[in-house]
Amino acid sequence: MTRPVIANWKMNFSLAQAIDFCNDITRFNNESLIIAAPFPYLAILTNQFPHLNFAAQNVSDRTTNYGPFTGEVSAEMLASCGVKYCIIGHSERRKYNNENNATSKLKAQYCIEHNITPIICVGETKEERALGTYIGFINNQLLECLPDSSAFILAYEPIWSIGTGNIPTSKQLDEVFSLFENIIAKPIALVYGGSVNGGNVSDVAKVTSVDGLLLGKASLNATELEQIIQSWINK
Ligand code: PEP
Repeated sequence: MTRPVIANWKMNFSLAQAIDFCNDITRFNNESLIIAAPFPYLAILTNQFPHLNFAAQNVSDRTTNYGPFTGEVSAEMLASCGVKYCIIGHSERRKYNNENNATSKLKAQYCIEHNITPIICVGETKEERALGTYIGFINNQLLECLPDSSAFILAYEPIWSIGTGNIPTSKQLDEVFSLFENIIAKPIALVYGGSVNGGNVSDVAKVTSVDGLLLGKASLNATELEQIIQSWINK
């Protein structure tokens, strides 16, 4: 997918609400949309909405497809449920679940082995940005996280932007996306995530090196999601 808009629902919606939402969004052109739904809904949603693309929000880093790992979900299991994408290394998982670059790389590789496209998240804290060390920090994340294969989507998600309402300036985005372009050969989709909404999507759309979006809060409102997708595909 070249211009993805990824809706990260996080830990939101009941199953009934998730189904209502998917029914609602079938009214608009959503070919570029990937919905990252909670684990228990995935098999139901892929079955009921075969025309939509679904992602998991996490996957196990265990080396086997099946085994004694209580609470884990393998890439093999996700693939068997029709899941095509998986978010890896989101800053919330790094913060609350002790995930790191090494586990992100393992997870990304397992996904690729099962024909699931990993959506790999990198991005610096407010402190690294203030200290001016962010380019080295992001560079190191790329070196340590990226899988050997090139079948992935890369998301720049500065932690100081997620959920804060602050988005980077075009100049700030250009700087980081130039780094990506120097390291990663196209056609990998390069995505921006952090506080994008219906009001600021046109600002992000001006940055030509940004191919796609990763949305959190704004992806929970079908009307706003439609507006963002329309602005994005017409950019
Ligand atoms: C995110 O958590 O990936 C995200 C982009 O969240 P928000 O859009 O709410 O900042």
